[in-house]
Amino acid sequence: MHGTTGMEERLRVPFADLRTQYHKLKQEIDDSIASVIESGCFIDGENVLRLEHEISELCGSKFGIGVASGTDALVLSLAACGIGAGDEVITTPFTFGATTEAIALVGAKAVFVDIDMCTYNQDASLIEDAITPNTKAILPVDLFGQMADRMALSAIAKKHNLRLIVDSAQAIGASQNREALAAAGDTTTLSFYPTKNLGAFGDAGMVLTNSEDLIMQLRSLHAHGTGRHGSYGFHERVGYCSRLDTIQSVVLLAKLPFLREMNDIRRRNAAHYNFLLAGCDAKLPRCKNGNFHIYHQYTMLHPKRDELQAFLKDHGVDTKIFYPLPMHLQPAYEYLGYKKGDFPNAEQVSREALSIPIYPELNEEQIEYVAGLILKFTC
Ligand SMILES: *Cc1c(COP(=O)(O)O)cnc(C)c1O
Repeated sequence: MHGTTGMEERLRVPFADLRTQYHKLKQEIDDSIASVIESGCFIDGENVLRLEHEISELCGSKFGIGVASGTDALVLSLAACGIGAGDEVITTPFTFGATTEAIALVGAKAVFVDIDMCTYNQDASLIEDAITPNTKAILPVDLFGQMADRMALSAIAKKHNLRLIVDSAQAIGASQNREALAAAGDTTTLSFYPTKNLGAFGDAGMVLTNSEDLIMQLRSLHAHGTGRHGSYGFHERVGYCSRLDTIQSVVLLAKLPFLREMNDIRRRNAAHYNFLLAGCDAKLPRCKNGNFHIYHQYTMLHPKRDELQAFLKDHGVDTKIFYPLPMHLQPAYEYLGYKKGDFPNAEQVSREALSIPIYPELNEEQIEYVAGLILKFTC
């Protein structure tokens, strides 16, 4: 007799499952990659233009330009807006490091304001107090898949004549009061990092804009500062080398028709977690009125976050901490002169946030298993 050990209860829940996603579209993706290789057209061309067109249509902007990464999309946006040394950019301390890094890379100074405790996005009501004569732009992030308050941000930008550059790396497919993602602002930036809601097979990104002037600058800047018509060998400005690979474009084109459905499944998974976890003592993610949240992450707060994470790990569930240290306390940005206590909300969320698996390929059994463990730990 071999008694059961309880091991069959133990499911394995990884934090992401890119392999399953690939296998659903394998034939189409493999064929289109092969056709790019056969064509010998690896940079620019029809496929990149088609992707730019389809994504800008989806996000409600006039123009889109493929670039090498979400980080480059931010750097190029800042550069195209003429932001550089001596300029200040008001941003959030609670984000992935690329947001702050892009500001530093163009030589400008990041100025932080704290986040609100409903969305964990930059608190728009704190921005005006941070404006100085050197302020040139506001750079909010649509964190975890929920848009920052566009109406408030646009109003402040307009009133103070500031640029509005939005880091939407985590929010493709989100909307707010039925306004599309990229309807407002000077530029909206996307990342197609493999684990984003629309992921490439490597690094890739895009800048969206409604401005004819900015798209001209961006087209030039992303390809070595070439002239108006991209004439080879003529440089109007010092630019960058930051193009979106044709191979990445065809991967993204193959996945794009399923983005809506994949986002809907993430939303359904989030609703399922919300239902199962209602009443537990973790603070569940909240969606602000009017926001169509696409749950790039499902992030909860718990005062015993590290123990909760270890408990889940022991039971086969991978989780992540987004983000363990706010930007104003990072060694890289020590020179900005901030100290512990400057942004209490960002600091609290960094201590308590835990993101649990939310990707579309999760099955019900896994969701119930994860929720069951959290209930066991917290109740
Ligand atoms: C992923 C991400 C980026 C950077 O994108 P890359 O494509 O990895 O360069 C920037 N900002 C935020 C908020 C992100 O999540």
